[in-house]
Amino acid sequence: MENKIYLDNAATTKTRPEVVEAMLPYFTELYGNPSSVYEFANQNKKAVDEARKIIANALGADISEIYFTAGGSESDNWALKAAVDAYADKGNHIITSKIEHHAILHTCEYLEKHGVEVTYVDVDENGIIKLDQLEKAIRPTTILISVMFANNEIGTIQPIKEIGEIAKKHKIPFHTDAVQAFGHLDINVNDLGIDMLSASAHKLNGPKGIGFLYIRKGIKIRSLIHGGGQERQRRAGTENVPGIVGFGKAVELAMATMKERTEKEIKLRNLLMKRVLEEVPFVRVNGDKVKRLPNNVNFSFQFIEGESLLIMLDMNRICASSGSACTSGSLDPSHVLLAIGLPHEIAHGSLRLTLSEENTEEEINYTVDKIKEIVDKLRKMSPLYEDFIKKR
Ligand SMILES: *Cc1c(COP(=O)(O)O)cnc(C)c1O
Repeated sequence: MENKIYLDNAATTKTRPEVVEAMLPYFTELYGNPSSVYEFANQNKKAVDEARKIIANALGADISEIYFTAGGSESDNWALKAAVDAYADKGNHIITSKIEHHAILHTCEYLEKHGVEVTYVDVDENGIIKLDQLEKAIRPTTILISVMFANNEIGTIQPIKEIGEIAKKHKIPFHTDAVQAFGHLDINVNDLGIDMLSASAHKLNGPKGIGFLYIRKGIKIRSLIHGGGQERQRRAGTENVPGIVGFGKAVELAMATMKERTEKEIKLRNLLMKRVLEEVPFVRVNGDKVKRLPNNVNFSFQFIEGESLLIMLDMNRICASSGSACTSGSLDPSHVLLAIGLPHEIAHGSLRLTLSEENTEEEINYTVDKIKEIVDKLRKMSPLYEDFIKKR
């Protein structure tokens, strides 16, 4: 679609042209299977090794600790299910937070049906996990702590280092879903005490359907897929060579451009927040003001339905979200917004805008103008708003 304004980069990002270019030969001339022995296929093995090295370096990890998967959801599923299996002799208790992505929460629900006990730790009004509650939740049978690095709806960045320290003190493996953070924030698994980490290429301008799980040496793990010897026999199946090459390229670019990209996103984000807060009445920003992804804004507009707002923004060619892509289309308010204590009616009027460095001031100004217009129109149609104004 021409002339669209794309403000949904937490759902997915555009694959960079350099990434596509790096991938193309692996669909055409360089189609060999990395497991084959002849020289022609050796190039593919080298390309996979090279991408693994770029990714390992970006995290301060060793190449032997990076396992390619088909994306963030698969990595999250694997980390939780494998830990439950591998540490069954120690216990059956997992600690996570109330604001995780559904790839974690629905896996936990599945595990609960199979006898695993899960504690969902609360977050404060800004969406930061309650560390004292987390530590108190630890039992002798706790086998895993899984807390996301940065939230996909409200952008809140968690105190990962502190969680890593708590986990280490109690000798419990610590997994983090870093799908929103990897390539956007500095992450060193050793400094932060992370034992397992999930990431996905399509959230950092790479291709869809490729991710990885970092697993620290010494952490007990079970194979996810049985078959050939790929990924050190932990995740069998012929490698997604073009995807892996594209992921490597995307990470290389993301690391090289992080500083300037972040500055640009923050500038645009601040303009967006400032204008909306000044020009639209009865609105709040959800999530922490400071400990927040540079490109994320999450608003709640009182007296309107987020879904109506989205549809009307779409009619003006603006791509936005009411929360996560997974909850759009359902009428339940976001579990994240409920967890930070928003009442249902306010959670319903929420809008998530996630920017990229490709957005312009002009786009942001146009979007704010449209938001003002639409919110005003929707409120004029709202009996609740009418009531509220009369009573004032
Ligand atoms: C997008 C996302 C996922 C899922 O990743 P996929 O690669 O789409 O499976 C998991 N966790 C978070 C926080 C996400 O934002």
